[in-house]
Amino acid sequence: MPRTLVTGGAGFLGSHLCDYFLAKGHEVICMDNLSTGSLDNIAHIHSTKFHFIQHDVTEYIRIDGELDYILHFASPASPIDYLELPIQTLKVGSLGTHNTLGLAKKKRAVFLLASTSEVYGDPLVHPQEESYWGNVNPVGPRGVYDEAKRFAEAIVMAYHRTHGVDAKIVRIFNTYGPRMRLRDGRAIPNFIRQALTGEDLTIYGDGSQTRSFCFYADLIEGLNSLLMSNTNEPVNIGNPIEMTIKEMAEKILHATGDKGKVIYEPLPKDDPKVRQPNIDKARGILGWEPKVSLDEGLKETMDYFKAKLSA
Ligand code: UDP
Repeated sequence: MPRTLVTGGAGFLGSHLCDYFLAKGHEVICMDNLSTGSLDNIAHIHSTKFHFIQHDVTEYIRIDGELDYILHFASPASPIDYLELPIQTLKVGSLGTHNTLGLAKKKRAVFLLASTSEVYGDPLVHPQEESYWGNVNPVGPRGVYDEAKRFAEAIVMAYHRTHGVDAKIVRIFNTYGPRMRLRDGRAIPNFIRQALTGEDLTIYGDGSQTRSFCFYADLIEGLNSLLMSNTNEPVNIGNPIEMTIKEMAEKILHATGDKGKVIYEPLPKDDPKVRQPNIDKARGILGWEPKVSLDEGLKETMDYFKAKLSA
């Protein structure tokens, strides 16, 4: 039975990874300091093969016994979180990645880094392919996340080249789904919460900036394919269907009965103007592509938000 560590395992994606690998028969160790994760996300898991450890991965990590896989997903991931926790964001991307890589080296575990489309910054190449080096403002407010993940990628490759760690890097594009927090702050959870509670939907800027949204279940399949693959190069995982933020707000308004309206607020500094993954590599190397339509994914997410709001 493989033994798998998920850091950030009580977060949105981390908790879905715990479910996924438990279902595949792994023993799963979930590590989280609960700064942005929540025990609610793992409260449904009663398996004896599941273990939760409350620990901050920026501190030395001690795990007894063998480990086959380490998925390093610990990090604030919403702009409002990393603006509120800038130093913790830098520490988890740097010290946390260093500690988890040290553990992977010791246990000879396959390592997967949750990197991000933010390594491309406000991109000057569109769509973004893995060979693009990005356009990041290192001293801007978003730089704490972008540069932490860029450093994380660099140290992952150094451990791969120097110590032979079998390391994978996934660049995750905007992902949504159940277990995002009501006040997560990102566009889809904000718009859904606002639409369901009768608030105005807050569009930042004029809403012409684009994003490409992937449903979590597709993403998790892609992550598993990458983890089990032979590649050690960064791979984009995301849904290439691109839309403006205004279109997304209108879609969510429509899906919730067209009762509310949109309002416009200032655009955050360094907010990327466009974002769309080129997924040729994921298609070619992993044979992966997203399957869940936006309508299906939004419905499942809205059902989750409705249940949370009524609880
Ligand atoms: N956004 C918005 N209203 C919100 C939240 C976000 O217009 O209530 C915008 C945000 O400025 C960005 C896009 O939606 O242009 C996606 O933001 P998100 O925080 O979801 O993720 P990002 O891709 O910026 O990391």
